[in-house]
Amino acid sequence: MWREKEVRQGLENLLEKQKKQLVEITSYDPITNLPLRKEFISLANKTVNRIGICDAQVVMIGLKNLAKINNTYGHDIGSLALKKFVKRLKPKLPAETVIGRISDDQIALFLVNRSRNGALIKFILGLSKKVFVVAEHDLPINLSIGISTNQLKCFSAEKILRESSLAQCWARQIGNNQVVHYSDKLENENLKRLMMENALRRALTNNEFIIHYQPQFSTNNRALTGCEALLRWKPTEQAELVSPLEFIPVLEETGLIESVGAWCLEEACGQYVLWREAGVQPFTLSVNVSAGQFHSGNFLKTVQHALQKTQMDPSFLCLELTESIVMKNISETLETLQALSTMGVKLSLDDFGTGYSSLKYLHQMNLDELKIDRAFVEKLPHDKTSISIVETILAMAKTMNLDVVAEGVEDEEQLNFLHLNNCSKVQGFYFSRPLTAPDFMRYTQSM
Ligand code: C2E
Ligand code: CA
Ligand code: CA
Repeated sequence: MWREKEVRQGLENLLEKQKKQLVEITSYDPITNLPLRKEFISLANKTVNRIGICDAQVVMIGLKNLAKINNTYGHDIGSLALKKFVKRLKPKLPAETVIGRISDDQIALFLVNRSRNGALIKFILGLSKKVFVVAEHDLPINLSIGISTNQLKCFSAEKILRESSLAQCWARQIGNNQVVHYSDKLENENLKRLMMENALRRALTNNEFIIHYQPQFSTNNRALTGCEALLRWKPTEQAELVSPLEFIPVLEETGLIESVGAWCLEEACGQYVLWREAGVQPFTLSVNVSAGQFHSGNFLKTVQHALQKTQMDPSFLCLELTESIVMKNISETLETLQALSTMGVKLSLDDFGTGYSSLKYLHQMNLDELKIDRAFVEKLPHDKTSISIVETILAMAKTMNLDVVAEGVEDEEQLNFLHLNNCSKVQGFYFSRPLTAPDFMRYTQSM
């Protein structure tokens, strides 16, 4: 009898211990030993109950490139970098601060005295400038910081945690090492963004995308040499078209760009074949390609599929890529460009001069064409910097045997300058705005 009681007591103790361990495992991050989301909230609430403040602040620190470090060097190195970051941060935190790991790449600070937080934010941003040496790798840490302050009389840790996370997401989109404070305006922007995201998810099946075509001309004889396909979105419930500058970043972020980009390519090629069948003389069809599309892993197949399905002659298709696309994963990119070139497709580098193309790689890209960005054409022929940039691009293109298209030509003066400096092709409102497919057909007939 006595033994039975002793055994039961022992078992109960063991169970209790295991339960505690389980709570510890599920509540704390094994890498940094920091409380995870739920525990962080509970600790923040406990702090408020103890010292009774309601003007608390949450600082959400996003480690922007942690996933990249994990993918490049492996998770062990990524974990060590994270540990080092937390180790440097912890001694600087004011008393009563709760620090937690909210998600893979988010560290949150719950601060009770917001008046002295400016110096702390400065210190955190300073950490991003330091290179973290982990197992002989020099790792820079890029941060994004979102801050939310408790505005209510009653305190809600969940609410300010969510708000700081939202602000941090916006900071992340702006660039490296940015700080964004949560506001009602941000909430509205976020709502608008979410609504746009939802509408875009349905846009392809609802046939809400259209392509406009902007003609390109030879500077020598002003004959039509090609056209650029430019995507437009007309939501069913809206009268106006939405600019691609607004919705393409959202397509990129949501991954929808892959399917929309594939549709755009196929639609433009199909339209081109129809024009040719209707008797329009051959010209080059340029289609824009975005980063998400190019690096999706399916891009070659998508191009092949569009060409096969529409029976378009690849030598009349020109893909416009930007410098930021081609400078990413350069060796892989060069292989893809080589494969596209072998397929017979032409390649153009769009917005040339605005990015950071390494001239070293330019020779290896199998390019056929450079496009001078509108920003440089705009200030011709008066602005000295624009003149020298345009002259340099033209001289470089000549030595590399590349065609050059100047975009955004709006007046005769710009056109004359470009013609005198041997720029072979132009595109811009001076000749024509982007046109719908039927208008483009009529335009070619009227020439
Ligand atoms: P982009 O590739 O640089 O396209 C040229 C932009 O300049 C077009 O704006 C065009 O309408 C505009 N443009 C042409 N001539 C003139 C001119 O004389 N004056 C002025 N002020 N503007 C001129 P759009 O159509 O709004 O497109 C904006 C950007 O959206 C494009 O810039 C491109 O980056 C992107 N985009 C458009 N369609 C597609 C697409 O199908 N796929 C991808 N990935 N991006 C696209
Ligand atoms: Ca373009
Ligand atoms: Ca451009």
